[in-house]
Amino acid sequence: MIPYGKQSISEDDVQAVIEVLRSDYLTQGPAVPQFESAISQYCLAENAIAVSNATSALHIACLALDLKKGDYLWTSPITFVASANCAFYCGASVDFVDINPETYNLCAVALEEKLQRAKKVGKLPKIVVPVHFGGEPCDMARIYELACEYGFKVIEDASHAIGGKYKNQPIGSCHYSDITVFSFHPVKVITTAEGGLATTNNKELAHRMRLLRSHGITRDQEHMVSAKDGPWFYEQVLLGFNYRLNDIQAALGLSQLKRLDSFVNARHMIANRYADLLLDLPVKIQKISSDSYSSYHLYVIRLELDKINHSHKQVFEQLKAKGVGVNIHYIPVYKQPYYQYLNQNYQACESAEQYYREAISLPIYPNLTESKQEKVFSALRAILL
Ligand SMILES: *Cc1c(COP(=O)(O)O)cnc(C)c1O
Repeated sequence: MIPYGKQSISEDDVQAVIEVLRSDYLTQGPAVPQFESAISQYCLAENAIAVSNATSALHIACLALDLKKGDYLWTSPITFVASANCAFYCGASVDFVDINPETYNLCAVALEEKLQRAKKVGKLPKIVVPVHFGGEPCDMARIYELACEYGFKVIEDASHAIGGKYKNQPIGSCHYSDITVFSFHPVKVITTAEGGLATTNNKELAHRMRLLRSHGITRDQEHMVSAKDGPWFYEQVLLGFNYRLNDIQAALGLSQLKRLDSFVNARHMIANRYADLLLDLPVKIQKISSDSYSSYHLYVIRLELDKINHSHKQVFEQLKAKGVGVNIHYIPVYKQPYYQYLNQNYQACESAEQYYREAISLPIYPNLTESKQEKVFSALRAILL
């Protein structure tokens, strides 16, 4: 089976991990701050806070922005559940903004309309989480304008998007947001096995996220309530978590980061080739904006079902039967039983639901060979034509 995504681990990556295993520190050693400063430099962000995964990054990002009971977080329905669940961890509520049918990203026009309606009933969101779907950046300039106008904060869920660019700025630079969050799960663009990271240019937010990542404990006199009893002294100043990344993971991340540009380049070659191959098939592909550089975490096709003799499910099953490990990204989040059980009467997002009826993610990862890609294409062609 050709998987839809797969990590690329080099001998250098293996050596980097072994070195940590032979060193004095497996966690809270030098590798984590090195990884953070390397990401900071890469993303042109002033602060980087490495954590155990993107889900914990989203959680502490929301807490740092003071999301709490009675507040709303809005995000896209076409995302992994974690983009929305982070609001519930803080006791807040979630609502969804429909996607743009061509980019599959949270639609800035739908956002503006929803903000206008929400303002009238006094239910404006505190945080909006745009998700750079498949690595293609959202319309951040417009979302940021709306943030200024309506007074909400912006967390970019860039779990798919490290290595991408928006208006020539690296994703993670937080040019149009308060915080950006990355995931280093093995299917994502670079990996630390499990891992995540938040970037921000706001010193206070960075400080709060650092505290929240590690029990709310500080060893800096500057941030303490009282004078140190002695050199051993630390204070817990708020309720945090153990959301730390360890040095084994950070060393892997540092080593992977060296190849990030080449990974994204390889993904572009594959995406360009798919685009050429798929021209004559009854499918649509994601629209990529001229001022963005996608990291191509995903390659999604949408079936033109009126031109095909099979259902969406049949195409999916037949591709699997032919050894093509396709996937669906994503089921609209509000359709999940947990969300239904909360019974918030989420309004149907029509574009998201239409998308879900047609979308299939094809395999894309740096080591997907041309011949494997041919195999994916011929399987698809045989089914669709
Ligand atoms: C993978 C993913 C997450 C969660 O990442 P973890 O590192 O597994 O916690 C969050 N949001 C999106 C959009 C993702 O794709």
